[in-house]
Amino acid sequence: MSHAKTGQKEQRKQTDPLYALRHSAAHVMAQAVRRLYPEVRLAIGPPIEDGFYYDVELPLALTDEDLPKIEAEMAKIIKENHPFTQRFMTKAEARKWCQDHREPYKLELVEGIQDDTVSFYTDGEFIDLCEGPHVKSTGEVKAVKLLSLAGAYWRGDAHNPQLQRIYGTAYFTAEELHTHVQRIEEAKRRDHRRLGKDLELFSFEELAGPGVVFYHPKGALVRSLIEDYVKQCHRERGYELVATPHIFRTDIWKQSGHMDYYKDYIFLFEAEKQGFGIKPMNCPGHILIYNAKTRSYRDLPLRLFELGTVYRNEKSGVLHGLLRVRGFTQDDAHIFLREDQLVNEIEQILDFEFEVLRAFGFTDYELELSTRPEKFIGSPQAWEHAESALRTALDARQLAYEVREGEGAFYGPKIDIKIKDAIGRSWQCGTIQCDFALPERFDVTYAGEDGKPHRAVMIHRALLGSFERFFGMLIEHYAGALPVWLAPVQVMVIPVSDKFLDYARQVVSTLQQEGLRTQLDERSEKMQAKIRDAQLQQVPYMAVVGGREAESGTVAVRHRRDGDLGAVGVDKFAQRVREESQSRRV
Ligand SMILES: [Zn+2]
Ligand SMILES: [Zn+2]
Repeated sequence: MSHAKTGQKEQRKQTDPLYALRHSAAHVMAQAVRRLYPEVRLAIGPPIEDGFYYDVELPLALTDEDLPKIEAEMAKIIKENHPFTQRFMTKAEARKWCQDHREPYKLELVEGIQDDTVSFYTDGEFIDLCEGPHVKSTGEVKAVKLLSLAGAYWRGDAHNPQLQRIYGTAYFTAEELHTHVQRIEEAKRRDHRRLGKDLELFSFEELAGPGVVFYHPKGALVRSLIEDYVKQCHRERGYELVATPHIFRTDIWKQSGHMDYYKDYIFLFEAEKQGFGIKPMNCPGHILIYNAKTRSYRDLPLRLFELGTVYRNEKSGVLHGLLRVRGFTQDDAHIFLREDQLVNEIEQILDFEFEVLRAFGFTDYELELSTRPEKFIGSPQAWEHAESALRTALDARQLAYEVREGEGAFYGPKIDIKIKDAIGRSWQCGTIQCDFALPERFDVTYAGEDGKPHRAVMIHRALLGSFERFFGMLIEHYAGALPVWLAPVQVMVIPVSDKFLDYARQVVSTLQQEGLRTQLDERSEKMQAKIRDAQLQQVPYMAVVGGREAESGTVAVRHRRDGDLGAVGVDKFAQRVREESQSRRV
């Protein structure tokens, strides 16, 4: 183990009993690897968020098949129940020990230690450079599992030798371990990148470049359903829809400050010898609309809303499916208002946010309030006012929230809304930010009752956040089985044989007239195969039709989750599905 520099976070972890357990498990794993492959050179093996790893150098490449072998050897070491004992060496002794045992990585770590005393830990025949802490003996490492292999460079530097990283995890009980392993499997099963391909929703195209999304017909359909819903809600709540361009002169980004703080993220280009940028944010565009005429106090709050597509030059290495992209669309609004309107407006935004999230099936939230950082603009009084407005609104709605002192943006305090998905992961979603900077920079004012210009306050807010990210999260939350109102195909009509194609077409036409997104599976496959395929495509309802159904004007209904629901008249079935869709039942 390395004598890692101990920052605050590291120290907190070291008092965590789970940290000691996983740290000990990493020793046991390294010990097992050494027993199986005596030529191994050990690098570092720290505990991490969900487990631990060890980086090792071996003349052979480990494969997944080797993991059970290593686990079996670990089981022996655990059974042998060796106590962990600390032992000190002088730096010279430690150096000699590393040389004698041909441990070049450990030697490098020893050289980096400031003290003259170096701590080692032994258990049985195994000894490792380490500061602890550990559990008492290897017998306490009970619920442990090796998970995967990866490549890693020594000290994370591509110029250094490549090592093999073995990941594992450990818990105090077999039950906790089981839950964790199940969660990993579950997350794999729900991976939106795989589901997006299997369900023909979207793709990324090498020729077009990384981080830009291609929505295929089914994905684009889901997207437009969400957009329609979101636009409708905004109109109902007094927001006015606007549309702004995608390219702007760089002058606007100079005035907004983005060229100072954000330049690396803007795609810049030239046209007719003038500098332009593709918008990374929608705010300045909305401000130009606000400023296009004189606004009176009576016009406020003025709420401008756009499904605004922005582009940010993210490093290709950090891109990740739909969750981190270069081009994305925000459900972005900017609200211009008077300071005394803040509390009421924020309360309304919170209500709006929860209403929208509920429609998508999310009812579990975490809220964070981020307050004034060390470097800030605007007056301390204005900050206090805005922070207290955010708090008052949260309290008025009796919402629990975590305060993140000093974590606000330099231009204003904010509330972040995170949602919990079906398997307990949290996702950043909505945000409500007060802004004192942009109204100054763009001289955003309104004419007060006194007829004089007053500085307006501005709120940036998004409910879903990035549409792409939200879509990715939605796919994972539902494991691809989108609720009926969002399903690209709501009903698949399946004739039991070609003889019933005519009746099946009638059924399709009736359902389509009722506004249901219906498809006919007219392939000459067996009925069971058609049902299986519809099931794999996560179509909520299958309407199977044969002789009996044709005679009685019914369909035999199957639900993707509940299975056989029996025969129902076509009209009644249509009505039932339409009702489920319109009420956005999840
Ligand atoms: Zn250790
Ligand atoms: Zn904004």
